[in-house]
Amino acid sequence: MNAESVCGACPRHCRLADGALGFCRARRAEGGRVVAANYGHVTSLALDPIEKKPIAFFHSGENVLSVGSYGCNLRCPFCQNDGISQRGADGVAYQCATPSELADLALRVRRERGNLGLAYTYNEPLVGWEFVRDCAREVHARGMLNVLVSNGCAEAAVVEELAPLVDAANIDLKGPSQAYYDWVGGEFAAVCRTIRTLHAAGCHVEATTLVVPGRNDTDGDIDAIASFLASVSSDIPLHVTRFFPRFHLLDVPPTPVAAIHRLVAVARRRLNRVLPGNI
Ligand code: SF4
Repeated sequence: MNAESVCGACPRHCRLADGALGFCRARRAEGGRVVAANYGHVTSLALDPIEKKPIAFFHSGENVLSVGSYGCNLRCPFCQNDGISQRGADGVAYQCATPSELADLALRVRRERGNLGLAYTYNEPLVGWEFVRDCAREVHARGMLNVLVSNGCAEAAVVEELAPLVDAANIDLKGPSQAYYDWVGGEFAAVCRTIRTLHAAGCHVEATTLVVPGRNDTDGDIDAIASFLASVSSDIPLHVTRFFPRFHLLDVPPTPVAAIHRLVAVARRRLNRVLPGNI
């Protein structure tokens, strides 16, 4: 009989027979434990302005070498990176790189074009958190910085191990409740915990809420999000961003610009730094 292994990386806790892939398609059971099957598999690599993450109040005007793999533990019907996030190794093109190779590349780019370090982004980085950890150590050893862009839906032990290595993060706070997270397949409490843990560790944390018409666009929705963030720190920047039809939500119209401005004003009652996005 094939014994099952339980993955502890995110709240789904996939139970996997040996050789089976997890729900995220990035982790696999091997020899009685669950490992990152996407370790070192790079699908995307680009030098981006840090504002594109989006991170607005940390080394503004500078670039960061941004790296992504494949896989995600959520199933947002509006995903903007479904070509890599909703795929496994058999559905994408990728190149292999070790953490030291990526950190060396980041250093070379720093000398030639200016670069803060590495940003872990594009797909969900925490489904391959061991690669983030190993890269982040190499990046710090070379005197550069680490930036995490994540849905934040990870188990506490993962975030606690990474937190001292992460200098800045943008964490999606997609909605105000578990009911919203039921829609996207995540756990609200885990995301809130991730934000708290990173902030407590001294990481520069910003948050993003994509406003989807009819789903999280009431004053009460944004007030609840702002209220949680303010309970951590009223200085956490919040990006209130406009939805455009993508992936499975092609029949939902873009968020009206006026709604974004209204919701930004709502969030500003509790937070000192609220920015509209995608307008
Ligand atoms: S990280 Fe992936 S394999 Fe692990 S519990 Fe979450 S979805 Fe399942």
